[in-house]
Amino acid sequence: MSLVVVGSVAFDSVKTPFGEVDEVLGGSATYFSTAASYFTDVSIVAVVGTDFPDKHLKFLKSRKIDIEGIERSEGKTFRWKGEYGYELNEARTLDTQLNVFQSFKPKLPESYKDKKVVFLANIDPDLQRDVLSQVKNPSLVACDTMNFWIDGKKDSLLRTLKLVDILLINDGEARELSGEPNLVKAANVILSYGPKTLIIKRGEYGALMFKDKKIFAAPAYPLESVFDPTGAGDCFAGGFMGYLTNTMNFEESNIRKAIIFGSVMASYNVEAFSLEKIKSLDYSEIESRYKEFKRLTHFEDLT
Ligand code: AMP
Repeated sequence: MSLVVVGSVAFDSVKTPFGEVDEVLGGSATYFSTAASYFTDVSIVAVVGTDFPDKHLKFLKSRKIDIEGIERSEGKTFRWKGEYGYELNEARTLDTQLNVFQSFKPKLPESYKDKKVVFLANIDPDLQRDVLSQVKNPSLVACDTMNFWIDGKKDSLLRTLKLVDILLINDGEARELSGEPNLVKAANVILSYGPKTLIIKRGEYGALMFKDKKIFAAPAYPLESVFDPTGAGDCFAGGFMGYLTNTMNFEESNIRKAIIFGSVMASYNVEAFSLEKIKSLDYSEIESRYKEFKRLTHFEDLT
């Protein structure tokens, strides 16, 4: 089985209290597909400009990611600039330049149209629906977004949400999208917009799943050194969707396992800038951190 993702492929400039990088490889589809590539085949739909170096495309190919759906257009690649304070939980966006994404009209390669699992990563909700409409008969559709689109294109985003099975967003975005400060109430409001399952990512506090009136809570892995949270949400989504695509089992118990694989991928990603850490993991490292999550949360039942 394989997975198709539409999202940004970007140059990121990021400042954290521990350092800064300028115009490094980033983007929601880049982080997502790299994390997902440890679990399944993944194909990207995106656009880059003439300034995008071949070495980045070569890297994606080296992870066996299908890049036939990455178009190269006249103009500049998407750019995002952000910074984090010591409380590394939320990025402050300093600049977003959509560039070639502004006029992007995705045309899916034939081989993408039969994919069974679709991930609409953080990108313009009009583009998310455009891509989804070209996939013939998906079994599972999930989506992410961010405040940029909640503020700027809420009506379009609500139209996308009607079409998705699972929504993954962070806590600040859940509050903003629902207009409700309490996360449990926010979840009920968001589920009324269409998705059957909602996953709220809470940075260093882990993730919550809301499904069929049930709640599942997973912690984040307690790390001693966190360098750059950029892409953590996308890597979470990549591990999560990659595992679901690999197993094609969308029952709640398997979604719980997928949440832990997502948390594992996010935890590795924040240990270095850009894709430095997740670009070359060993699958045994992923499994061993999964087991550490199990130990971390184990406690005995009442007797
Ligand atoms: P995350 O830290 O997982 O929420 O995602 C960070 C990534 O999202 C960065 O690599 C950015 O290039 C990308 N990004 C930031 N803003 C946007 C946006 N408005 N649309 C699409 N991608 C974005």
